[in-house]
Amino acid sequence: MVLEQQSSVGGLYSIEEVGGLTLTIIPPVVSSIKRLAEILPDLKLEEWRPIIKKTKEEHLKMKVCPFCDELPTWLDVKEGYLVHNLPEALLELGSKVKIVRGYPLRVREGKLFTNRGILEFSEIINTGSREELNRLIGVEEDLKKIGCLLAVIVSRGGINKWDVLLHGSAGISFSHVFRREIDEKHDVYHVYAFTRGGKHLDADRILGDLKRASVLTKEDVVTMRVRYIRECILAGEKEKNRPNFLRECGRLGLWDNLSLEEAVESALRC
Ligand SMILES: Cc1cc2nc3c(=O)[nH]c(=O)nc-3n(C[C@H](O)[C@H](O)[C@H](O)COP(=O)(O)OP(=O)(O)OC[C@H]3O[C@@H](n4cnc5c(N)ncnc54)[C@H](O)[C@@H]3O)c2cc1C
Repeated sequence: MVLEQQSSVGGLYSIEEVGGLTLTIIPPVVSSIKRLAEILPDLKLEEWRPIIKKTKEEHLKMKVCPFCDELPTWLDVKEGYLVHNLPEALLELGSKVKIVRGYPLRVREGKLFTNRGILEFSEIINTGSREELNRLIGVEEDLKKIGCLLAVIVSRGGINKWDVLLHGSAGISFSHVFRREIDEKHDVYHVYAFTRGGKHLDADRILGDLKRASVLTKEDVVTMRVRYIRECILAGEKEKNRPNFLRECGRLGLWDNLSLEEAVESALRC
């Protein structure tokens, strides 16, 4: 049985309704597809060779995650594939398992107390937040994280020619912008603004900075959706010894900045 917190499956690749369109909150871009294609053979793939515009790229790491040894590979933008039907393929995969919408509250002597009732278990496979799970089982680790505000913006098309913008200026809230055409008249922009220490960010700040960075003005925007992800970049020290009843996988369970391919690989191994 799968316990899933969100109302839709797919995690970061679940679908958002944005102005009548179904879009993912992060762009469906992967650098390799070997493992993905193994479990999802019907993926519609397009080769992706992005035109990358860079502004103060040398400050990017300091701006995004000063305490990280290096940035996640998924922020190291290079050639890859655009997957056109990833959410649909994940939904199809999800339809094959029993999913209970809920979240865990407590773990005690072979019982998992959830907001949907008590489940007896011999083993827990955790792909959700390791930090949360540690709290439930009373284990301490020195985990660190960086949150991010993710904006999906549908705009009128043809404003910018680049596919990716990397922005290292400290005065601009966002660091990464991905752009792609969705039809003849519209583009979609995925904007990433990483934040730590409770720094307040909202849609207005993102829009103001997009204007200041000469990306888009409010008038160009057709519709917009913003989502805050608490556990975006993961770091810190992990303990090797974990309880015997626990198996951990995925980016949140392993507390590792896995790419989608690596997350799939970890799920297959788990
Ligand atoms: C901003 C961002 C951009 C990225 N861009 C790319 C990219 O371009 N290319 C790429 O290859 N990879 C990218 N990645 C990484 C990639 O998306 C992930 O490695 C992969 O999607 C992780 O899948 P997952 O299932 O392990 O985690 P997630 O997609 O985070 O899913 C975790 C699931 O667990 C559920 N959950 C969490 N806690 C609980 C709980 N307590 N109870 C019940 N359910 C819970 C959540 O609801 C969610 O469905 C990006 C990651 C981030 C954060």
